Amino acid sequence: MKFCSRCGANVKLSIPPGDNRQRFVCTSCGEIHYQNPKLVTGCIPEWEDRVLLCRRAIEPRYGLWTLPAGFMENEESAQQGAARETLEEANARVSIEQLYTTFNLPHISQVYLLFRGSLKDLDFSPGSESLEVALFREEEIPWEELAFPVIRETLKHYFQDRENGLFIPRVGDIHWQSGKNGAYTVTLLENDS
Ligand code: ZN
Repeated sequence: MKFCSRCGANVKLSIPPGDNRQRFVCTSCGEIHYQNPKLVTGCIPEWEDRVLLCRRAIEPRYGLWTLPAGFMENEESAQQGAARETLEEANARVSIEQLYTTFNLPHISQVYLLFRGSLKDLDFSPGSESLEVALFREEEIPWEELAFPVIRETLKHYFQDRENGLFIPRVGDIHWQSGKNGAYTVTLLENDS
């Protein structure tokens, strides 16, 4: 960040009084520009034993498959955002149900909230950010062509849980292993349920 979004003057990094970390502070009006993690909300659209995936028409990860998800907008709930993203990316209507996975991605300061969602009908088609949308059974999932680790981890637990007949919400962290060409580690918060 270089300029104040309030007055247009230069900002500089400094620790405001009473704070304990550096912030961008306006040199003219004194505005403190806090930068905090972003929430990404999305869902697993379900239809019988299949889930809906979208093939990305945008970077990053153009051409790879993902669940409908995106940044939350102001003044909406995470559930509304998940349904909105599903409508935008797949022209599909869902009833949002359980919050299924919550993944922290500290290296990019994002938190993913992925819900289970029930497709209301089979009327879907690619939105402007998708090349293709389709329903997949577990054995049809393109595991090697999934766009993001958070999607792979969520689907992995989803199909395990479905086999067990019980969907258990998961909270975890995904950490990139730097210099290891896309390798990552996953830490799940233990729960006994
Ligand atoms: Zn300013």
